[in-house]
Amino acid sequence: MKSTGVVRKIDELGRIVLPSELRRVFGIHEGDELEISVDGEHIILNKRHDVCLFCSSDEGLVQFKDRKVCGNCAADLGGVIPREVRLDETVGAAG
Ligand SMILES: [Zn+2]
Repeated sequence: MKSTGVVRKIDELGRIVLPSELRRVFGIHEGDELEISVDGEHIILNKRHDVCLFCSSDEGLVQFKDRKVCGNCAADLGGVIPREVRLDETVGAAG
């Protein structure tokens, strides 16, 4: 892990300011969301990226209401009603 050499004090509300140079390099802008994770004794900030609501995949995402869903899960969602219809048809054909 590489130190930036920058030291910042935490204010009375627990906030720190990310140096503007770091924000520029990492493309972090006002209003962006950062995910906070912990690795041993290190606190890690990651730019939040969207993942599928159901399987956490980040490939082929489509908007579903106000969330993101991957193509496979979106196909499953769209297939729920037709599959039941097909099941009924199969039962009807057998009976
Ligand atoms: Zn998915």
